[in-house]
Amino acid sequence: MKTISDKDLGIDCDFVARGNTDQEAIEAATAHVRDEHPEEAERALAAMRSKIRNE
Ligand SMILES: [Zn+2]
Repeated sequence: MKTISDKDLGIDCDFVARGNTDQEAIEAATAHVRDEHPEEAERALAAMRSKIRNE
């Protein structure tokens, strides 16, 4: 399982995006950030790939 947490992206939110692959986790995190934190989206998307965790 791959995860990307909002906290690791510097966003004060408990959401954690999950996926079976890096790409799935990135897609889930991207959708969430765009919908819920549009003011953070540009910075968060740039950092996302380096914030993927293996769980
Ligand atoms: Zn969030």
